[in-house]
Amino acid sequence: RAAERSQRWVRFTPELDAASNQDTLELLAELKTALGSNQLTLHYQPKICLLSDAVLGVEALMRWQHPERGSIPPGRFIPRAEHSTLIDQLTAWAIDTALAQLVTWQAQGLTLSVAVNVSTRNLLDPNFVDSVLSLLDKHQVDGALLELEITEGAFMLDFERTTAELTRLANANITLSIDDFGTGYSSLQYLDALPVSMLKIDQSFIKSLARNSSSAPIVRAAINMAHDLGIQVVAEGVETRTAFELLRELGCDVAQGYFMARPMPAAQFNDWHTDTQGYFRPG
Ligand code: C2E
Ligand code: MG
Ligand code: MG
Ligand code: MG
Repeated sequence: RAAERSQRWVRFTPELDAASNQDTLELLAELKTALGSNQLTLHYQPKICLLSDAVLGVEALMRWQHPERGSIPPGRFIPRAEHSTLIDQLTAWAIDTALAQLVTWQAQGLTLSVAVNVSTRNLLDPNFVDSVLSLLDKHQVDGALLELEITEGAFMLDFERTTAELTRLANANITLSIDDFGTGYSSLQYLDALPVSMLKIDQSFIKSLARNSSSAPIVRAAINMAHDLGIQVVAEGVETRTAFELLRELGCDVAQGYFMARPMPAAQFNDWHTDTQGYFRPG
């Protein structure tokens, strides 16, 4: 079964690695420069506990300020970086930077966890798990304060190996979450088999969420199913008070979205945290 699955989904070929066109090659060369010259930063978006209103942690989201082209969104460069080993360096940089920021926040008395996005391809890098563990060690951060968000389709690349790698991370108390849940390949059959403890319902279901919307029963079912499996649920893309309140009624655990706060630079997050005293209480 696992072999079948992986055969169907392995698509990283040498041709792809060679990158498909000049545009991509240029972008990747510039991205490599960016990595070494402070053009990359992380913005942080709060995650709110729907039971207590407390700010539980943040998701780190990569930003690229190009010297000539201005700000380039991750949706434009991450998928291309995934076709080269550059993605391994980007992810390592993101985890390193996010953990350093977490240590700074800890010193300021803020209790937070930090989530970093991990690409499909990172899980195929045999050094990935060791590099994550050594970054925790470098910063002396407890694994329980680090969360890795993995997009659904990633598991399908090589199910057995991926499960083994994820188990090593889970054994270090790192929280593993499935990102963009509901958009990828059939998720139900392997959800139970993976050592994940969080599921993030994709924003396409949440943006339009209202009492009589067609996504409401889907969201309700996803929350109930996850809870039955002992998995917590995060809703991403919460843009309205209606969605926020309905998610709370449906028993969703955590909410993230523009209604509460946009991703922001660390300094701005500090101000926001001070203003809100670490709680999100819509007036
Ligand atoms: P994602 O991990 O699913 O992150 C959520 C995206 O939705 C982010 O876009 C965030 O800014 C945006 N968002 C959050 N709340 C709302 C909302 O209420 N409404 C709307 N319309 N959007 C909202 P962003 O920052 O552009 O990132 C896009 C994707 O790029 C991420 O999706 C993730 O897959 C990828 N990405 C970003 N940073 C990294 C990174 O450091 N490493 C990797 N591998 N991927 C990253
Ligand atoms: Mg994410
Ligand atoms: Mg997502
Ligand atoms: Mg995503």
